[in-house]
Amino acid sequence: MEVVPGQSAQARLQVAHLHNRTPIEVPVFIEHSIKPGPTLLLLAGIHGDEVNGIEILRQCIAKGITKPRKGTTICIPVVNVIGYVHNQRDLPDGRDLNRAFPGKKTGSLAAQIAHQLTQWVLPHTDLVVDFHTGGAQRFNAPQIRLSGDDPELLKKAKVFGAPFVIYNKPTPKSLRHTCDKKGIPLLLFEGGKSNDITASVSNAGVNGVKRLMYELKMLSPKFKVSKPKYKTIEIINSSWVRASSSGMFKPLIEVGQWTEKGANIGQLSDPYGQSSISVLAPNAGYIFNVNQAPTVYQGDALFHISTEIRYSQNEG
Ligand SMILES: [Zn+2]
Repeated sequence: MEVVPGQSAQARLQVAHLHNRTPIEVPVFIEHSIKPGPTLLLLAGIHGDEVNGIEILRQCIAKGITKPRKGTTICIPVVNVIGYVHNQRDLPDGRDLNRAFPGKKTGSLAAQIAHQLTQWVLPHTDLVVDFHTGGAQRFNAPQIRLSGDDPELLKKAKVFGAPFVIYNKPTPKSLRHTCDKKGIPLLLFEGGKSNDITASVSNAGVNGVKRLMYELKMLSPKFKVSKPKYKTIEIINSSWVRASSSGMFKPLIEVGQWTEKGANIGQLSDPYGQSSISVLAPNAGYIFNVNQAPTVYQGDALFHISTEIRYSQNEG
């Protein structure tokens, strides 16, 4: 379909059919300004249970933020429409959509959806923001993930203004991996945990979209842009603190906080009140992910902690 300048459109991307012939359609919201400019693609819900990302884009549409003063926004709040209905990360066949890119027309349901996005949406895009949350009960501090040495992308991540920027390689066959290969800049937002909406995370996402659109001169002048309250902390290296035994788990530190080496950051207990052990910070660093599961198994990830950081001045 064609959306002429000055027009809004609600399209349905026909991504696949189920075996019972039910068509799978993904709603796509397009806002095309009369003034030419870049095309910003905003995506959430590639994992159907990561509703905090969906909430961020819901707010962006409802408040009119995605109506640009120049250029175009393409907004897909729920990519994995089937997973979302079932509060599930994956598709009904158990496949992870974010491990199916660039996709294949004749492949699995995940591969077909990925193919349609790669084929029909990505070629129109100058910049992508893909919204995710931590998996299961692992709560992420709001953060932008980057692949590495791209100063332009780092600048955009700082403009977004999430408290943390994390460097890590894209997961093979993820949307970020495909965008990297195609040279399409992508900011991966992570914040909160699955099946949960936390207002501070939603606010970080919505404010980030506004700041980014302001920087791109796309934001309508009716919106105010707030400066981030903090300097972005770049996490160069990090490691997981894992459970040394199974049991009930109580974190004793808030996500996003700094810990000193050796501090007691959590408690692992047996359910009968017979034993309890402290989880000690292996090094000083920022805790940017906390497992909020009440019960954990030996070897489970409890905290993600920075091992090497860099403070940087925010842009914009
Ligand atoms: Zn995700």
